[in-house]
Amino acid sequence: MNGLYLVAIGGVPAKALEWIENTAAEWFPMPIRRLPPLSIPEGAYDAKRGQYQSVELMKMLAQNAPRDASRVLGVTDVDLEIPMLSFLFGQAQFDGPIAVVSLCRLHQEFYGLPPEESLLRERAAKEVLHELGHTFGLVHCADSKCAMSLATHIELVDAKAEQYCTHCGMQLVQRFASREE
Ligand SMILES: [Zn+2]
Ligand SMILES: [Zn+2]
Repeated sequence: MNGLYLVAIGGVPAKALEWIENTAAEWFPMPIRRLPPLSIPEGAYDAKRGQYQSVELMKMLAQNAPRDASRVLGVTDVDLEIPMLSFLFGQAQFDGPIAVVSLCRLHQEFYGLPPEESLLRERAAKEVLHELGHTFGLVHCADSKCAMSLATHIELVDAKAEQYCTHCGMQLVQRFASREE
């Protein structure tokens, strides 16, 4: 069976990768494997904004995808941007193989607060479910507690539960039941 590959882009705490692996294993019935870490691609840095272009990271992930990869999820600690948005918690190909999640704005320290590991873990889990959900064809959900609801700031991430609502969860189950993956 084709696998879901996890890969760190730049320096990422080992613990965070473990949390993410556990979250993915809970929801996605497929082998989960790690790829060796990748460096932040040259040219991704946008000096004007002091952020990194998400598209460049997505491209690199696609180029490094193993042949048997069903999904490749990149995890980074740098702040991501796309031209139309001031920042991104993550980005995914809709119904496609590549996704990336940034931990940068999930750290309490980003907001000038003391670190809170359990909160970082929860936020990372929610964002991983969100971006991987998109890769499996899930769209944004109106239920603010669902992992698939759109979060444009950290309070909205914190309002989510660490799971999909019944509707989104059922869609995933059906997807795997049809053995498309
Ligand atoms: Zn989304
Ligand atoms: Zn939902």
